[in-house]
Amino acid sequence: MFRKTWMEVNLDEIADNVRKIREISKKKFIAVLKADAYGCGDIQVCRAVEEAGADMVAVSSVDEVLMLRNEGYRGEMLVLGTADPSDIAALIEADAATAAYSMEWIEHVIQQNCKGLRVHLAIDSGMNRIGFKDEAELRDALHRLEAAGCIIDGIFTHFACADEKDHVMTNRQFAVFEKLVKALDYPFRYIHCDNSDATLFHHDMLSNACRVGITLYGISSYTDELAHPISLYTTIYMCKHVPAGETIGYGATYTTEEDEIIATAAIGYADGFVRANQGRKVYVDGTYATVVGRVCMDQVMLKLDHEVPLGTTVEIFGPHVSLEEMAEELHTIPYEVICLISGRVTRKYIFHGEEKAEQNERLIRSVR
Ligand SMILES: *Cc1c(COP(=O)(O)O)cnc(C)c1O
Repeated sequence: MFRKTWMEVNLDEIADNVRKIREISKKKFIAVLKADAYGCGDIQVCRAVEEAGADMVAVSSVDEVLMLRNEGYRGEMLVLGTADPSDIAALIEADAATAAYSMEWIEHVIQQNCKGLRVHLAIDSGMNRIGFKDEAELRDALHRLEAAGCIIDGIFTHFACADEKDHVMTNRQFAVFEKLVKALDYPFRYIHCDNSDATLFHHDMLSNACRVGITLYGISSYTDELAHPISLYTTIYMCKHVPAGETIGYGATYTTEEDEIIATAAIGYADGFVRANQGRKVYVDGTYATVVGRVCMDQVMLKLDHEVPLGTTVEIFGPHVSLEEMAEELHTIPYEVICLISGRVTRKYIFHGEEKAEQNERLIRSVR
């Protein structure tokens, strides 16, 4: 690691979270590692969840399937999103399942050699993203896939409002899902509807698996018993006194009111530390500091209450700054904050109690 801006990912704590959630759900565990495991690194997180007993890994795309297969993951896999019909040969070859989500998609698929393609039927129970709504159409879809030699491995739906206190929408969606699953009366190996939040409050006799993404990282509206395995850090490279009446950064948006201690740290919007972070609190050397002036591409200025030397660590989120609060202040959700952390931010992994190999996209490219 040359530029000292890094995300720490404690894989042991992720594994502990998997074990704790499995105890609560008592169902098969599908670890949702889409979008590079929400920016945390799918290869590494995959190893941890597999060791902790995950039964399946779900990803966003065929690329992510191939990436994990390439890295030696041999367990069950599912593409949750929309695989392109022209890519099914790659899925069959990789022995990974995908969502079958519309009649038009199925028509594209069965025109090709799709023998052995594993699918999970997607049910739209009210979110209106992907999936079947109509029982007759669903039945037809199932028969056509079977006739074409596809393997119907599962059926699933997705809840739109599982993070809300009120469960009216979730219950309504579940009723729609249950009715369709029961009407099909088919021996699906996997029946699943619960995401992270629903896994913790929604208990039913129909589904036999849960799909858990964000709660792997300890983020949940329903429990605070989980470990918080991810944190983001950077480093101070300069610290100085700025007299009263000077301005800080692009646009001169901040003016010092008195003699102030201003530090410059190595994180900016190109790292995913978006400009809306202006004014945010970060943690430096035992106290909180404030982002003053605009966030630059690679750097940010902080107002401190005491001087610190070059090399001092800044915690952006972690043990002293909650990721949930940070997301709320940014008017977004933790998912978006961590997915946006860019590839040039080094990922530092802790696994089996040891600091493991660091990953940085730019370094990987430069040694290739
Ligand atoms: C992303 C996603 C999940 C995981 O959601 P979390 O809230 O992170 O647990 C589950 N199912 C589907 C269909 C998804 O798209």
